[in-house]
Amino acid sequence: MSEKSKAELLKEKLTIKHQSGLKDASEETIKNAFDFCEDYKKFLDDAKTEREANEVSLSIAKENGFVPFVMGETYKAGDRVYFNNRGKAVAFAVIGKEKVENGTNITAAHIDSPRLDLKPNPLYEEIDMALFKTHYYGGIKKYQWTAVPMALHGVFVKTDGTVIKVCIGEDDNDPKFVVNDLLPHLAQEQSKRTLSDGIRGEELNVLVGSMPFKDDKASELVKLNILNILYEKYGVTEADFLSAELECVPAAKACDIGFDRSMIGAYGQDDRVCAYPALRAICDTKVPEKTAVCVLADKEEIGSDGNTGLNSAFLKYVIGDLAKMQGGDETVALRNSKCLSADVNAALDPTFQDVMERRNASQINRGVCVTKYTGARGKSGTSDANAEYVAQIRNMLDSAEISWQTGELGRVDLGGGGTVAMYIANLGVDVVDLGVPVLSMHAPFETTSKFDVYMCYKAMYEFCK
Ligand code: MN
Ligand code: MN
Repeated sequence: MSEKSKAELLKEKLTIKHQSGLKDASEETIKNAFDFCEDYKKFLDDAKTEREANEVSLSIAKENGFVPFVMGETYKAGDRVYFNNRGKAVAFAVIGKEKVENGTNITAAHIDSPRLDLKPNPLYEEIDMALFKTHYYGGIKKYQWTAVPMALHGVFVKTDGTVIKVCIGEDDNDPKFVVNDLLPHLAQEQSKRTLSDGIRGEELNVLVGSMPFKDDKASELVKLNILNILYEKYGVTEADFLSAELECVPAAKACDIGFDRSMIGAYGQDDRVCAYPALRAICDTKVPEKTAVCVLADKEEIGSDGNTGLNSAFLKYVIGDLAKMQGGDETVALRNSKCLSADVNAALDPTFQDVMERRNASQINRGVCVTKYTGARGKSGTSDANAEYVAQIRNMLDSAEISWQTGELGRVDLGGGGTVAMYIANLGVDVVDLGVPVLSMHAPFETTSKFDVYMCYKAMYEFCK
């Protein structure tokens, strides 16, 4: 081998070493990534809503020894507790060797995803067809949600408090639902609309039936027949829709993408692609130095407001309760805490490269993406992570040989977005975003890379352990 030139040596010393990612990964790492993602795909299919993700996560955690936190009890290093927030958000903690007051290591991901929620009074009949009115949840390109098979998930809650779970459209034998679109032959007027207006909010109506109830006296017989089916199946009447949370989500199952099976396609990967690795990481954490906390939150897609979102006091009180259990102080514990806000970033798409600034864009298969800030219009609405903290995370990732990259959320002034990072930062915690790059984010079917999902898990585990 010829000796390296002066320039080559200098280049090696001074320039950024672009993380090579999948192309330099060992066979073993690739196998681990593929194996990890088999479980991840199952999680995606079992947990399409925040309630289901909460339930599935709790059952995985319970198998791993987590028990409900009880005020007044004392827990020792290695003990595992959880805080269930109304069945829609949950926090898990593994007690550390150090006092909680010395700070906790928090991973935070969200388990809600964009979808079509049923309105409080959804069911109606029009020209002998029964439909549901919906109000979309989160930022969606509405036209993408037509003409794809949909499933209905959620709950009816009766006035006596009985909760009736609904999940139709997931079993192969189940019927599905659909939002119909206009045929191209008659779409001349519709085609003149802008893309964002192509399908309007009030046009996202879900077809749920067309068969009339056999009686010639009453009107709206198709709607009546649907109500009759719902009554027979769930014991609910039309009024019970008033206290229900019913969500229309894509019925498709998670699957491999590509001849090489290197990617995963599924609904709701934002942000279950971070929630699942975070959950697995805290389950694999034994006796950490600092108390490890994993919070899986609701409501991120609509701004994190509400008592199950992270703009509530939920996380603050979780840390507070853990600190007080040892006679410590909530404020001190928060001030000393660190957090990985585990959320996705936009992956560079070969077809739409110009929305990104290439030097600061994440790509699939380059590992987990550290996002220093999100926001819009000059970093508005974000927590811009402190350089000191980013340096610590850089060191952690490099030391553990975890493939990682950095990425902004698109070109300056093109748009933008936010995560839960700023709400946690507002508590005085050091926070940076770290997550998996996603293609087609917020579409009914999103794409990620298996290698990146696994690197996300490795980063979460390194942070918790
Ligand atoms: Mn997200
Ligand atoms: Mn999102």
